[in-house]
Amino acid sequence: MRKKFIAGNWKMHKGGKEAIEIAKNVKEGIQDDKVDVMIAPPFTAIPDVGRTLEGGFVKLGAQNMHFEEQGAFTGEISPFFLLDFGVKFVILGHSERRKIFGEVDDLIAKKTAAALTFNLTPIVCVGETLSEREEGKTFDVIERELNTIIPLIDKKKIVFAYEPIWAIGTGKVATPETAVEVHKFIRGKLGDIGQDIRILYGGSVKPENAESLLKEEEIDGALVGGASLNPESFLSIISTARSV
Ligand code: PEP
Repeated sequence: MRKKFIAGNWKMHKGGKEAIEIAKNVKEGIQDDKVDVMIAPPFTAIPDVGRTLEGGFVKLGAQNMHFEEQGAFTGEISPFFLLDFGVKFVILGHSERRKIFGEVDDLIAKKTAAALTFNLTPIVCVGETLSEREEGKTFDVIERELNTIIPLIDKKKIVFAYEPIWAIGTGKVATPETAVEVHKFIRGKLGDIGQDIRILYGGSVKPENAESLLKEEEIDGALVGGASLNPESFLSIISTARSV
């Protein structure tokens, strides 16, 4: 049985006291580990948020990282640095990184391999654009994105997130049927180990639509952007994950 997992991606939002305040509220709202919970603040807030989460059930994540331990990579953050602050998860291949920063499948695979080497759990995002969906290319795109990652799968350590790009930050959530269809496709590609690997759905998950998605056995949790910035909304999604 796969445990539900709710992960918050703060993107380039929140720092200083505001970040600490949100983390504190989320920490106080989670009193057991019935559901796994992670928040990924911007890099600069990781030390404060990490300290705030200490002693609680909420895990710390990062939104990206480089694949080398150190070197001449101006502006980059090494997996090794993340470990210093208690980071356990790292989001890789988010569509914003692919589209805005030109990250390609091979780079994402290198980062995934590095995360596993450093004992960080990668949350690898895959998903199609609206035009790819309309042209009937959804499964081809996802298969291509999975191809470089599948050989790296190390027992249960990778988490996948199906994030249809047309649903991210748009308020247009995928229907449970659409999400389940793609989750089944991804699980099928993972082979036997697929039964043990968590596949989250991401894209406009809010308290109002969380139940319809999370009650699906195929949907092992959610990667939440906008709604994770509001502790009340984020805790409400977590509470739904506990009850389905
Ligand atoms: C995300 O950033 O991964 C995401 C799913 O964002 P939102 O929930 O805001 O659509």
